[in-house]
Amino acid sequence: MNKPHIVILGAGYGGMITATRLQKKMGDNEAKITLVNKHDYHYQTTWLHEPAAGTMLPEKTRMPIKSVVDFRKINFVQDEVVEIKTEEKKVLLKDGELDYDYLVVGLGAEAETFGVPGVKEHAYSKWTVNGARQIKDHIENCFAKYNNQVEKEEGLLTFAVAGAGFTGIEFIGELSERVPQLCKQYDIAREKVKLYVVEAAPTALPGFDPELVEYAMNLLESRGVEFKINTPIKEVTDSGVVVGEGEEIKASTVVWATGVRGSSIIERSGFDNMRGRIKVEPELRAPGHDNIFIIGDCALIINEEINRPYPPTAQIAMQMAEICASNLNALINGGELKTFKPDIKGTVASLGGKEAIGAVGSRKLYGGTANFMKKMIDNRYLLLLGGVGLVLKKGKKPF
Ligand code: FAD
Ligand code: NAD
Repeated sequence: MNKPHIVILGAGYGGMITATRLQKKMGDNEAKITLVNKHDYHYQTTWLHEPAAGTMLPEKTRMPIKSVVDFRKINFVQDEVVEIKTEEKKVLLKDGELDYDYLVVGLGAEAETFGVPGVKEHAYSKWTVNGARQIKDHIENCFAKYNNQVEKEEGLLTFAVAGAGFTGIEFIGELSERVPQLCKQYDIAREKVKLYVVEAAPTALPGFDPELVEYAMNLLESRGVEFKINTPIKEVTDSGVVVGEGEEIKASTVVWATGVRGSSIIERSGFDNMRGRIKVEPELRAPGHDNIFIIGDCALIINEEINRPYPPTAQIAMQMAEICASNLNALINGGELKTFKPDIKGTVASLGGKEAIGAVGSRKLYGGTANFMKKMIDNRYLLLLGGVGLVLKKGKKPF
């Protein structure tokens, strides 16, 4: 009998943990396993605000997939997924196609624009390694240009972040730390630089602990960040963002962080979805598709306590991957399928430098303690993925 073929799409948090767990759980004669990813490297999306602001080298956020996935056990295909043909059990790639018996979809998220015009054309919205490089290069270019202009371009040194969710806050935290260094490096007075965070909701970090939000806002304001709260962005233009009744904030740089939707491959492949996310069955399969698991940002699960979806996070993607690998093993080798229940350990967000905030269980964390915790969380992922060796090689220094 032919071995079943498991195909994993995406080598992010979900895909990498699924692959590394399957390579341990399953013998070569039990299944053929293929991992497909756009690049031959894996990156930690959760670190990308740092290279985007230029406070970390992009290389630090990525690693060759083959450094943690055993290519003797797992067949790696570097290609771009174009569509999933569920009826034919086929995945169409840019340069070929793959047949599968079992499929794991872990293709992550894309920027949510909510239909705001001009985002794709004028804002930086790609939270990938190359997207982070583009943001950093553009920011540095604005500083380099400034003193070479006789007529100063309005808004050249204005940097606007759209959305005061965790991504927007973490990015402005890093950028506000870096600006004084950039000013020094390019001989520019600090007051020439403007940093805005534009948020539609009545508060930054809506839904998060108000004391922690206040701490974060006060700290960022002390570094010169200006919050425009209750201010939905209506349009992004080549010279800034349009808010309110047509008022424009002139900004050469608009970084888009207003939330995410699941990979466009989900919609293109005809799955029932809500903003690119599939409401999965308790064992993480797509409804009506007993051989397709959906994990990470492509999956939607409801928090029954508040009857709202859980926010898409790496924390949940990793936990889903463990259950997905276990359920694939059970389907092929026999055993009970497990149901998924997220174990939310808390949320910790960096604010740049040695600052952070966090809510872990009933504890609120601030400043250095939260910053230490954040680094431990980042390192814990490396530990789960590749053991102590990977932490020593790629991990963050706790202090
Ligand atoms: P990802 O990790 O994004 O991986 C998707 C993979 O699929 C990537 O390798 C990508 O290249 C690949 N891919 C995509 N499309 C294709 C295609 N068509 N063909 C082939 N390959 C493809 N969450 C937390 O829990 N804690 C945090 O501190 C945190 N910080 C964050 C900071 C930032 C700046 C951002 C942007 C997000 C943060 N998140 C955080 C959210 C977290 O990063 C995501 O929830 C998590 O990455 C989702 O994991 P995933 O496996 O679904 O997708
Ligand atoms: P988000 O949905 O958490 O926040 C987006 C923000 O943008 C919201 O506050 C929203 O009100 C605002 N917004 C929406 N439309 C707007 C508009 N037109 N103009 C102005 N503001 C607008 O999205 P995110 O911050 O990108 O985070 C995505 C996911 O990643 C979330 O699940 C988040 O929890 C997770 N994340 C976690 C961490 C962490 O744990 N440290 C860090 C980053 C991201």
